[in-house]
Amino acid sequence: MTTFARDTIASAAEFIALDDRWSTHNYHPLPVVVAEAEGAFVTDVEGKRYLDFLSGYSALNFGHRHPELIAAAQEQLGRVTLTSRAFHHDQLGLFCQELAELTGTEMVLPMNSGAEAVESAVKVARKWAYQVKGVPDGMAEIVVAGSNFHGRTTTIVSFSNDETARADFGPFTPGFVTVKYGDSDALRDAITERTAAVLLEPIQGEAGVIVPPDGYFADARRFCDEAGALLIADEIQSGLARTGTVLALDHERVRADLYTLGKALGGGIMPLSALVGRGDVLGVLRPGEHGSTFGGNPLACAIGRAVLRLLGTGEFQQRSAALGAHLHDRLGELVGHGLAEVRGRGLWAGVDIAPGGPTGRQASEGLARRGVLCKETHDNTLRIAPPLVIDQEDLDRGLDAIAEVVRL
Ligand SMILES: *Cc1c(COP(=O)(O)O)cnc(C)c1O
Repeated sequence: MTTFARDTIASAAEFIALDDRWSTHNYHPLPVVVAEAEGAFVTDVEGKRYLDFLSGYSALNFGHRHPELIAAAQEQLGRVTLTSRAFHHDQLGLFCQELAELTGTEMVLPMNSGAEAVESAVKVARKWAYQVKGVPDGMAEIVVAGSNFHGRTTTIVSFSNDETARADFGPFTPGFVTVKYGDSDALRDAITERTAAVLLEPIQGEAGVIVPPDGYFADARRFCDEAGALLIADEIQSGLARTGTVLALDHERVRADLYTLGKALGGGIMPLSALVGRGDVLGVLRPGEHGSTFGGNPLACAIGRAVLRLLGTGEFQQRSAALGAHLHDRLGELVGHGLAEVRGRGLWAGVDIAPGGPTGRQASEGLARRGVLCKETHDNTLRIAPPLVIDQEDLDRGLDAIAEVVRL
């Protein structure tokens, strides 16, 4: 007989034991069991409050349960949630138009997860290469960067060089060429007449918030133009105000041909991703060639439109820029005092803990004990990405805790 023991569970430890027993072990979460959240704060099942310094890896740029996003979701829940793309609905076209206008692009392919947006970019770039550029069938290549993170599907891990993400998942999808991130010469040398696209993160989040050298993207743009290849920017983590601009690539004054968006696009409520860009490139897709049952559903589109309204005010971009300057000033002061290096842009930072200090995991655990939620990436790096709704006082409290733990 099935028993639903939920009401009888009292402690965080019991919930954690339940997860460990019944959910696959493909994550190593901190021992915090979240029950509620609002704005920049989450509360665990035992009533302890934490400051969220991770924001669901930028999926929660507008904080938890932003009232305007919740209102949009509730309004749409009262109307229609799913139609499939077998029919039109009254949110899709408006969402696509508003997203194209905000990003200065011409066409939108809505999907659900970030990985699906990247998969869509790979498919569209290949089809464009064969049909428009004239690459011989089956020969198209996509140039990617080492230490990239673009998602978890078999094709995407085919061009990852993270052994943990790849081991035992082969055989892999061919057609990818990897070059060192930030190295313009290597990128130029890798592009050939068979190159369909160059796919890059404007800032590599998972790798530790790695900002490439000035001019790297201007070079990438020029090489792509010279070779007739597409430049694809994966802005799933860096985009939508995280760095102080709608797109992180805006800082480089470079336009990509295609952008992948996700994470914050769904307001932390629904999975919502998109491939956006040039109409003549996205226009290669014909009926039946690509799709998703849930992609562009009315509920996600209504929430996405509310996200775009928030971004349209410019308030979150400004908050990221102003609070980000403060964040980087304060983290900079810790270099030589527990930190070896600080990188990032806007309200987004990767910090390397100095040798001899705690590991990233130990630091994350120390922060959790002090009521701040953060997560390591790699051994000695912390990724700091508070929601853009945080105020300076709370930001400072979190930074005080970071200053403490990295010196332990
Ligand atoms: C998170 C992420 C993805 C994958 O998104 P999912 O929604 O987890 O599939 C792809 N690219 C980048 C840069 C990301 O940060």
